[in-house]
Amino acid sequence: MITIDGSQGEGGGQILRTSLSLSAITGTPVRITNIRARRPKPGLQKQHLTCVQAAGRICNAQVEGAELGAREVTFSPQGIVAGEYHFCIGSAGSASLVLQTVLPALLRAAGPSTVTIEGGTHNSMAPPFEFLRDSFLPALARIGATIELRLERHGFYPAGGGRIVAVIQPLVAPWALELDERGKFLGRHARALIANLPAHVAHREIEAIKHQLKWSYAECDEEEVQADGPGNVVTITLRYANVTEVITGFGELRTRAEEVAHKAAKEAQQYLDAGAPVGVHLADQLLLPLAIAAGGRFRTAAPSDHTTTNTAVIAAFLGERVMLRELAKDDWEVQVRGS
Ligand code: ATP
Repeated sequence: MITIDGSQGEGGGQILRTSLSLSAITGTPVRITNIRARRPKPGLQKQHLTCVQAAGRICNAQVEGAELGAREVTFSPQGIVAGEYHFCIGSAGSASLVLQTVLPALLRAAGPSTVTIEGGTHNSMAPPFEFLRDSFLPALARIGATIELRLERHGFYPAGGGRIVAVIQPLVAPWALELDERGKFLGRHARALIANLPAHVAHREIEAIKHQLKWSYAECDEEEVQADGPGNVVTITLRYANVTEVITGFGELRTRAEEVAHKAAKEAQQYLDAGAPVGVHLADQLLLPLAIAAGGRFRTAAPSDHTTTNTAVIAAFLGERVMLRELAKDDWEVQVRGS
């Protein structure tokens, strides 16, 4: 049994999720202590509890301590079993992060799996659906992973009620990732999405983005969707031959629409001005899939705390796998040794 200190580095839910995934994949029992110690509400919240339960289901693990608020969990896995799974978070907690937990293990299963997850589909501080579909999964397709993802219903904080479905094929003969350059620029698009909110919220966001990025109306649109409660996100998509970056601004109560758009546009401009293909979020999320497959190499901006913390958790299970090297200011090479 290995022990992972959940208060190390970034100190959030990702330490738990990476530990669960790697425990399931390697068959190594794990005790995770000080879970989410650096968060204002530490311990297992509903999303994290669902991650523990979901990881437990896919490998028939014996789990101790999985309760709301728990700061310590013991997880003893058996073999990974492909199948049809349905996980319900029971709050607006991020469905994407539950998927992030079970996906690497199910790539290593003997057959295909279908995973349905109910909860939030567009949560701040988590990958929204469009990021998974347009950025993360196409990057995994470059190592040979075949995963279909669909959004059946949007879910926003605090009402939740969203649903995503992923069909995951086993990754039998993975390739190493080589992502040094963005490749040819293919297109850009901004979308303001609203649910149960006045249309002017989306209009104002698109006006702000058009103004700030100097884009045309043809490159922007507004969409109204059905959901259990109010919700608003702005999604900026930048497509290149080798990579797609998806930047998201999350509407929040008491935050002006212009401010939501401004923050997203600023982030998009930073990505456009930089040269590295892999954005800050994609970087931390690629490490684990690469480490359990054939490894690879990519260029990204300066590593985030999520990236360095994930590197340390991966090392605890697999030995040193991730090398971070600064090439120039805000231009780093990440090399991952595969399994
Ligand atoms: P907590 O940190 O409160 O425990 P958590 O379980 O939600 O919360 P973190 O450990 O902070 O999770 O991990 C969040 C994950 O979501 C990281 O992998 C990060 O890259 C990703 N993420 C955050 N914001 C975005 C975004 N806008 N687009 C894509 N991915 C994102």
